[in-house]
Amino acid sequence: MTELDRFRAEAVGFIERSKAAGITCPAFGAIVPPDMVETARSWQAHAFANGWSALHWPVENGGRGLTRAHTTVWYEECARAQVAPYLNLQGYVLAAESIIRSGTEEQRATFLPRTAAGEIVWCQLFSEPCAGSDLGGLQTLALRDGDDYILNGQKVWSSNAQFADYGILMARTSLDLSKHKGISFFLLDMTLSGIEVRPLKQMTGDEEFCEVFFDDVAVPASSLLGPENDGWRVAMEVLGDERGSFGEAGVISLDQRLDVIATAGTAAGDRNAVATDALAELLVRGGALKAFLQRVDGEAALAPATKLIRTELTSAADGYEASMRGAGAMLLDEVTEQLLYSPGMRIAGGSSEIQRNILGERLLGLPREPS
Ligand SMILES: Cc1cc2nc3c(=O)[nH]c(=O)nc-3n(C[C@H](O)[C@H](O)[C@H](O)COP(=O)(O)OP(=O)(O)OC[C@H]3O[C@@H](n4cnc5c(N)ncnc54)[C@H](O)[C@@H]3O)c2cc1C
Repeated sequence: MTELDRFRAEAVGFIERSKAAGITCPAFGAIVPPDMVETARSWQAHAFANGWSALHWPVENGGRGLTRAHTTVWYEECARAQVAPYLNLQGYVLAAESIIRSGTEEQRATFLPRTAAGEIVWCQLFSEPCAGSDLGGLQTLALRDGDDYILNGQKVWSSNAQFADYGILMARTSLDLSKHKGISFFLLDMTLSGIEVRPLKQMTGDEEFCEVFFDDVAVPASSLLGPENDGWRVAMEVLGDERGSFGEAGVISLDQRLDVIATAGTAAGDRNAVATDALAELLVRGGALKAFLQRVDGEAALAPATKLIRTELTSAADGYEASMRGAGAMLLDEVTEQLLYSPGMRIAGGSSEIQRNILGERLLGLPREPS
């Protein structure tokens, strides 16, 4: 038995005991639904108190100093047990990894232990009404004024912003430098005066993302993560984390899902050739994604492909399940909710079209599209 096998057995034991005690939070994906925030917070706090959080983060910042392979094992066993591996992706992965990579000692000490313990919730403040796919065109301004940056502008689609304590923010800090060069990256205290958060209702009926308005917000210069005007680099690393956040754990969840679909699909009495064909296609695509993920093994350059194939397949699975239900899929239940939720996953973190452009231009070396 290797050290990692022993670690896995311990993880399984901890999750099983916690589940039996009713302390875990059911798996929800990247964005914590509003009605599960408190459960997710206390599950994260419990995991941290027992040494099951921040596994590969530095010991001096609340982590256990283990390897990324240990974190992968944790994600895998959480997926198998269908419990959330963390409070939300925006904090535990996007904010924390960027702070580990680019933060000062003080920023690491301030934010990492509290994030690991589920004490603070993060949101991601990148997209704007006129800057989503073309993120480099963002217009929110943070202009230096003494010890502060004065922040003005608007963000949109900011998941979890209505209860976030901090946000990872991209804002323009120079009007002279070219588009991508004049952007900086901030760790924004969401309680600062001049920040207004307005939740948006999605077609599922939930309010998971928000509009965020900034009106002369005085942001302390110490909130800058990385050098001024180097925010594009920091943000691209964050997007790499976001798009690639689906390794072996994702394979396990996908396998479980496809098993359920296959069992229901083959058990359905009134099957016809079209439904059989659709089921077969889904299972073949699932098998191909699984093989692909095992082969790429988290390779950063292939994160856009992982994101593209995963979200397109999930969407097809949602459509298949709904179509198997016939008119019943129009009644609001779990299948309906999945169907209404899945188009968003093909857009969040960069749309499918954008992932295809990246793959075409950067990986396959095809001609760049006209700007
Ligand atoms: C569920 C959900 C959660 C989200 N959470 C967050 C969050 O927490 N924080 C955050 O900052 N953002 C978040 N977003 C926003 C997301 O990142 C953007 O919606 C996304 O980047 C697309 O930008 P846009 O909506 O402005 O669409 P646009 O960029 O306006 O694109 C509109 C359409 O045009 C297509 N298109 C645009 N440019 C090209 C091109 N060059 N080639 C081909 N097609 C193109 C797009 O694919 C899309 O179909 C979230 C989105 C969703 C759906």
